[in-house]
Amino acid sequence: MRYPTRLQPVITVHRDTLLNSQLSPASRLLYVTLLACADGAHINEISALAGITADECADLYLKELRDAGRIETGDHYGQGETITVHEIPIVPSQRSHACVPCTLCGNCSCQRPREICRICDLKREVDQEAAADLARWKRQRAAGATYATGRSGNRLHRWDCPTLNSAEKSMTILKGAEDTVAYGTYHWSPLPLLFTAEELRAKGARTRRCAVCGPDPL
Ligand SMILES: [Zn+2]
Ligand SMILES: [Zn+2]
Ligand SMILES: [Zn+2]
Repeated sequence: MRYPTRLQPVITVHRDTLLNSQLSPASRLLYVTLLACADGAHINEISALAGITADECADLYLKELRDAGRIETGDHYGQGETITVHEIPIVPSQRSHACVPCTLCGNCSCQRPREICRICDLKREVDQEAAADLARWKRQRAAGATYATGRSGNRLHRWDCPTLNSAEKSMTILKGAEDTVAYGTYHWSPLPLLFTAEELRAKGARTRRCAVCGPDPL
């Protein structure tokens, strides 16, 4: 089951659908229920919620909604037979024909502006953030930065203090979440900000020194 928007507590229903006397009351209720239902809900559950019990009846109302351009049914890569619910009625020329696969993983990308599925897009965004942070960290190390502050900045550490994030730790967390990108667990833990002694003196930093790593006094 796919929906035009991320799930919100409130749904918007087009008057041309809800008040359309050409559509049967049962199909209008089925449409509103389809629009409101949680991702992954089975059509049998949804039709039961709309008071439709026998399978053949649901098919009948689904056909009515499909013919009226309120929903589309079709096979999508990685999803199989899928019902797409349109918030705004579509005309026959707007009907999608074949599924457009994601150029990165091959799963359906029909609901996306570019040919990249939501999961690959999320992953790519985090990977870019990780690469940029890692490059910054390496640049600072190459420039001789040996002091670090955690992200809260209230302690001064050696750059390699075990209480801080390291490239390895962040990378392990990242790789461990590769299979659960869809659940929003794929994220980059930012590396500490690094400084040279000169930079810290210039800043006039009076941050307390970490007792674990004991950085050299400035
Ligand atoms: Zn598709
Ligand atoms: Zn993809
Ligand atoms: Zn420390």
